[in-house]
Order: sequence, then structure tokens, then C-alpha cells
Amino acid sequence: MLRNLISAAAVAATALVALPQAGAQQYPSRPITVVVPFAAGGPTDTVARSVADAMTKAMPGANIVVENAAGAGGTIGVGKVARANPDGYTLLVFHIGMATAPALYRKLQYDPLKDFEYVGLINDVPMTLLVKNGFPAKSVKEMVAYVKQHPDKVTLANAGIGSASHLCGLLFQSAIGQELVTVPYKGTAPALADLMGGQVDILCDQTTNTTPQIKAGKVTALAVTSPARLESLPDLPTMAESGYPGFDVSIWHGMYAPKGTPKPVLDKLVATLQQALKDPGLNKRFAELGAQTASSQRATPDGLRKHLAAEIDRWSPVIKKAGVYAD
Ligand code: ASP
Repeated sequence: MLRNLISAAAVAATALVALPQAGAQQYPSRPITVVVPFAAGGPTDTVARSVADAMTKAMPGANIVVENAAGAGGTIGVGKVARANPDGYTLLVFHIGMATAPALYRKLQYDPLKDFEYVGLINDVPMTLLVKNGFPAKSVKEMVAYVKQHPDKVTLANAGIGSASHLCGLLFQSAIGQELVTVPYKGTAPALADLMGGQVDILCDQTTNTTPQIKAGKVTALAVTSPARLESLPDLPTMAESGYPGFDVSIWHGMYAPKGTPKPVLDKLVATLQQALKDPGLNKRFAELGAQTASSQRATPDGLRKHLAAEIDRWSPVIKKAGVYAD
């Protein structure tokens, strides 16, 4: 009897130990959801969908789908992933907002440095400063002169507090010493649509969203926010060339999983992301949209965690100095 009990307990213990491993071997056995905390069709969505496709190709049996959970500058979707079951079936793709939200939100529902596992950095993406076609300015200098003459008439779109467009807009307003009337959206896909429709005047957004519209002449680009001009938009001057040296906003995207995701599952995701980032189709698409794919050293849990921590340290004082908060 005692022997039977002991061997039953031993079998149960072995099963318990073996479970996560077996789970990892079978992983994924159902669709994986990548949450994008902004509207569909925007820059974060574009990056997430491109990576999800390349990862689906790289992981036999995988089906990776994207879900948009937009609102509050991305913080709603991020909170959803922080609270999700840590089983590898809910992931997050988010940008620099992961680093800026702690300084911007008084009541954040998650801690970016405690509530997540890190899969890896995906890419770096510069931003472009745009005005609607027909806006009476063909350069940053002319635009600033106009804005200063008509401060109540000119509107600046963004994707909510903590979004990349909000951050870029904040830096721009502080650089020119002029506050603008801002119009928040659930992502820069709807913001860009309104800029093309002439309902708002100015938008600063990632090249992954704006490049096709700039090339099609549907919006007027005035400058790029990276220190050097881009190969994908060679005629566009930098903000430094336009009279604002040191204006450098580069957005980066990373992939996260909820804290407690089993290590074997995480290892599988890291290897798959690394492979996906070598996909020639993905790299061609990123290059066309002005994005720079992360190196294999940065596309790692450690690469993302270190970059996130450094970006929190870099942006928190800037945001605090700007004195912008949200509840
Ligand atoms: N580009 C947006 C932002 O301002 C996010 C998005 O719509 O993907 O953060």
C-alpha cells in the first residue's frame, strides 16, 4: 500500500515536472494572438503584422494572428497583455510608449520592467513631420512662422498620451516654443486618414505609416526626425537641417509576453523572432518603409530589457520637465 502510494506520488511528481516541457514541445497547439495597442492599419499594426507573418512562416504549425486593442495611448492593450495567461498564446508588440508611459501616466495598470517577459527588439523607425496638402508652408521654417501667427487655428493630431506621435509633438512644441491645439486618435491610422482628408493640419508619425502616402503625394512631408536623411526618402531634410539641431526621435518596437511565460516557450519565441528578422521579404518591406531591422544581438530578451530600461531613464526626465500627465 505504502509502496503503491509512493510510486503513485513519484508518477505524479514526474508528470508535474514533465508538463511544462511537454507543453513547450507541443507549443503552439492553437493560434497565438499578438496584441497591437493601436488601431488597425497604423505603423505599429504594420510592423506587428509583418513580423507575425514572418514568424508564422518560421515556426512549423504556428498561426499567429493580430488583435487591435486601442486606446489611452496604447496603455489599454498593454494592460490586457500584462494580465493575460502567461502561456505563450498572448504576446504584445509595442513601441517606445512602453518606456514613456510610466512618466506620463499617474495610474498605470502595469510595470514595464516587472510584468513582462522580453522576446526581443524588432526594429528602429524614424518619424516624419507632416502637414496636410494645401497647408501654407513648404518647409519647417515656414510652418513654424505660420503656426506662431495662427496658434488657435492650427491642429496637431496624435494617438493619445504616451503615443509616439504625442511624444514627437511634445518635443516639437517645446522646440518651437509654441503650444498647439492637439487632437487625439486611437492610432495614427485614423489620424493620417484625417490629415489626408484635411480635418487636421499637422501629424508626426512613423515612416512605416507615412512613407507610402508621402510618395503618393497625399500629404506634405517637411522633415524626418532622425539625425541623418533616409535612403527611402532622400529628398526630405532632417529636423537638424531645418534649424532644430538635436531633435532626434527614433521609435523602436519590441515583442513581449506576460510575466511567467514558461522559459521553453519563451526560448522558442526568441528563436522564431530571430529567424523571422532574417526573412528577406520582411527586411525588404522594412527598408522600403524606412525601418531598420534589429541586429540579432538586440533581438533578444536581454537586448530588449536593457534598451527599455535605458529608454525609461532617457525619457522620464524629458517628460517630467514638459509637465504632461494623464490619469
Ligand atoms: N504611431 C502611433 C503612435 O503615435 C501608434 C500607431 O497608431 O501605431 O504611437
